[in-house]
Amino acid sequence: MAIDSFGRRIDYLRISLTDRCNLRCVYCMPEGGVAWKGHDEILSLEEIERFAGIAVEQGISKIRLTGGEPLVRYGVVDHIRRLRAMTGIEAIALTTNATLLPKFAADLREAGLERVNISLDSLDPAVYKDITRGGNLADALAGIESAFEAGFDPIKLNVVVVRSLEQDLFGFAKMTLERPLHVRFIEYMPVGDDANEGIEGALGAVGIEGAGCAGDNPGFHWTRADHVPSDDVLAKISRAGQAVGAGPLIGLERENAPGGWGPARYYRFADAQGTIGVISPLSHHFCSECNRLRLTADGKLRTCLFSDDELDLRTVLRSGTDDDVRAIIKTALDSKPESHNERVGTLRRMSQIGG
Ligand code: SAM
Ligand code: SF4
Repeated sequence: MAIDSFGRRIDYLRISLTDRCNLRCVYCMPEGGVAWKGHDEILSLEEIERFAGIAVEQGISKIRLTGGEPLVRYGVVDHIRRLRAMTGIEAIALTTNATLLPKFAADLREAGLERVNISLDSLDPAVYKDITRGGNLADALAGIESAFEAGFDPIKLNVVVVRSLEQDLFGFAKMTLERPLHVRFIEYMPVGDDANEGIEGALGAVGIEGAGCAGDNPGFHWTRADHVPSDDVLAKISRAGQAVGAGPLIGLERENAPGGWGPARYYRFADAQGTIGVISPLSHHFCSECNRLRLTADGKLRTCLFSDDELDLRTVLRSGTDDDVRAIIKTALDSKPESHNERVGTLRRMSQIGG
């Protein structure tokens, strides 16, 4: 079992398979993309599997593949098959924008992938196109259908709530009435080097002093005004549900919530097939329950989403022994901060960290 220096059990590893993506969501990437890492800088799938094998031995039992867009990484299906064959891995999940899922869903399921989280921020084709800078909503919706057809369970939909995008949040909530879909509203986070104002504003909002970063995404910046606390989202959806005779929202105990490895709080409308969750990293931070490590596509091990402290795993994987890798995991556990209060601000974007 892996326990960090604050007594938290660390059993969840998020692996970013690539820093590349076929979309350019305004809050995640600059319009022109980021400077992609060269082929040699990115861990090979074999290197990732070697690390996963050692991490599992040390107490990791759940793996999420993310990115960038993980489905643009060549060989992802067989990678999942090999990870799934490792003793000690309880489950593998994938976070995806779903646009490539129609092509991959059945094969991914057959390879042993259990769960998918699908990111979708608008059900309006024009707004979706704007948010993703060119994406086609029909592709993402087809991706959701293919996930159902392939038998994934649970299927979660992640919606990042950004006030100025004026998303129809109840439109998402309504989807849970008819389908066993778990819609989670995520607070917009000031991550990435456009987060200058964001870091100051967001952390000010929760009483933390922030560190500024340089901006390179002139079209879109995190602002304090764009951050919508999850409690406001829940109140709005509950009111809208009552107005159409579906509400109010009912809080769910953990045992009645869809299985998960993270900090979402769940609710449901009385007769709904699915649930509604909120993830509130800013308004209700959940550092005391943090159970995760993150591996970036270029082989850096991160102990906290909000900290740029990274351990250079790539060099060790390329020139070290398994014991050297174990030592890096131990260093990560020993140095994982108690909360994001200690260090704030990130130089890397979400697409480079994996969310
Ligand atoms: N491309 C995949 C996708 O979009 O699902 C996986 C990578 S993406 C970086 C992982 C998650 O991070 C997505 O759900 C995305 O919406 C979320 N995300 C990106 N930037 C964010 C931000 N600034 N605040 C909150 N969530 C963010
Ligand atoms: Fe790509 Fe996901 Fe970032 Fe959107 S949120 S740009 S789909 S990595």
